[in-house]
Amino acid sequence: MSSRFLSSLGVAAVLCACACARSNPPVKTDLHQLSRDDAQWVMPAKDYASTRYSGLAQINTSNAKQLKLAWTVSTGHDRGHEAGPLVIGDTMYYVTPFPNDLIAIDLKNPTGPPKWKYRPQNLETESQGVACCDVVNRGAAYANGKVFLNTLDGRTCAVDAETGKEVWVRQLADINRGETITMAPLVVKNKVLVGDSGGEFGVRGWVTALDSETGKIAWRAYATGPDKDVLIGPNFKPFYATDRGKDLGVSTWPKDKWKIGGGTMWGWISYDPELDLIYYGTGNPGPWNPELRPGDNKWTSGIFARRPDTGEAVWYYQWSPHDEFDYDGINEQLLLDLPIGGKTRKVLVRPERNGYMYVLDRATGEVLSADAYGAVTSSFGVDLKSGRLIPNKAKEPGTGKVIPDICPAAPGAKDWQPSAYSPRTRLIYVPHQNLCMQHEGTDVNYIAGTPYVGANVVMVPGPGGHRGEFDAWDPVQRKKVWSIRENFPVWSGALVTAGDVAFYGTMDGWFKAVDARTGTLLWQFKTSSGIIGQPVTYRGPDGKQYVTIAAGVGGWAGAIVAGGLDPRDATAALGFVNAMKDLPGATNKGGVIYTFALP
Ligand code: CA
Repeated sequence: MSSRFLSSLGVAAVLCACACARSNPPVKTDLHQLSRDDAQWVMPAKDYASTRYSGLAQINTSNAKQLKLAWTVSTGHDRGHEAGPLVIGDTMYYVTPFPNDLIAIDLKNPTGPPKWKYRPQNLETESQGVACCDVVNRGAAYANGKVFLNTLDGRTCAVDAETGKEVWVRQLADINRGETITMAPLVVKNKVLVGDSGGEFGVRGWVTALDSETGKIAWRAYATGPDKDVLIGPNFKPFYATDRGKDLGVSTWPKDKWKIGGGTMWGWISYDPELDLIYYGTGNPGPWNPELRPGDNKWTSGIFARRPDTGEAVWYYQWSPHDEFDYDGINEQLLLDLPIGGKTRKVLVRPERNGYMYVLDRATGEVLSADAYGAVTSSFGVDLKSGRLIPNKAKEPGTGKVIPDICPAAPGAKDWQPSAYSPRTRLIYVPHQNLCMQHEGTDVNYIAGTPYVGANVVMVPGPGGHRGEFDAWDPVQRKKVWSIRENFPVWSGALVTAGDVAFYGTMDGWFKAVDARTGTLLWQFKTSSGIIGQPVTYRGPDGKQYVTIAAGVGGWAGAIVAGGLDPRDATAALGFVNAMKDLPGATNKGGVIYTFALP
């Protein structure tokens, strides 16, 4: 971070401390500072380090059993609700699945009429047809008195946080090519960072930075193609030799296949203000059938560290070179300072879709450790010398080859659903799934705006028969400390608090509070629909601690209910339906925001 930037933030922070009423968000926001205020929840992952940890402790392990429903608000939408709310001042903001309403709830009177409701104009309903796995949205962002949201049909919108009036709109993705946007933006140094979805449609992945005041595009970094498009320049210093060389985003593909090679960015971005680096992962290469794209397929299924001002790449590491199983590399990265090898190291912890819990040096991209946290048969681990994943050749897909027992299945040991970290317990709380798959590669031709997959996949429960887990993982000892088995995939995010309570939801509608140290169930509440949202906590205008979760089943895992898919079609929803045939009997669709507090 430049000193000029630091000083301007300092002035803003001082002014704010004196003059800002709680209900009037500051005009010039120091988000890093603001995220430390546990009364609010100002970005999807709570803070730039993506910890989803709150210092609030009114609700604790002794009294959590007394939690009571405080209020509910129906969103009026019935597709998958993957978003978590933001809480800024006395207002809660929630962005719904398509058609992407942004609802402002007055926390002084939450069950009264909404403060305002914003719906982007003239939304392209056809975008629903090119969303691979339900029409979800993963949340909004806030900065400088504005709320930012992405729409499924490919726009980023800025809305006045007080009035709900549109400030600017920028069209970024092209649904005619199968491109959509589902991710939650992140604002860093007055840039709104946005990435595209569509890895199953032969799109080309990118991250774009927009000026938060005007919506003007500041930079765009592609995940495939020549170095100039990927924003790789003289300061790019990847740790491993296989990531060094000119235009690898072209030469690690068959001729021109990088143009339709995927590497989309629909997951999470973290930011380290001290190193001034943003971190985000890239999605799977397309098509799924790896035989059709020999090579490492850079820069897909990996992670970039970039400068937020220019987008310039600083390092990159590839989780799954030449990915064979739809192992998108887009999961959350928790930025932690951990004692490793006798000294404190600035690390990045990533529960990766390929089944390994990676600990990376976040200054350099060096892999310090990578340990399986779920069932893995698709590879034999990570070679720490070369950094390479060691593939299991027996599971290598090919055209016409039917290969059973590939674990993890395409959604990985964990998908987008974000973990939490408590500095008190020093544990990571990991919601994830336990699924394996049968895979058959097929031929496929690229037609713009249509699926470009080349695989028939059928998913099944993993070892043990349970389909989900909520685990506590010690990133220093590199082991699972406790584990809760769930019948369905745990497709919700996690939250942990200074009261040592961890929260998550299940796809059959239970919202649960567990003891963060032991995993003991403290309390649960049955909501009206399966939970795939992200829990948050905040201090209300009355001084009480509240916990909020949106129910509303759907997403890839819940597409069988949200999309009304036929359970007899094993390969529907890219094979997920086969593993979820009993979900329609366990829950109903419909979005409702639930908020709980002590009596
Ligand atoms: Ca994918």
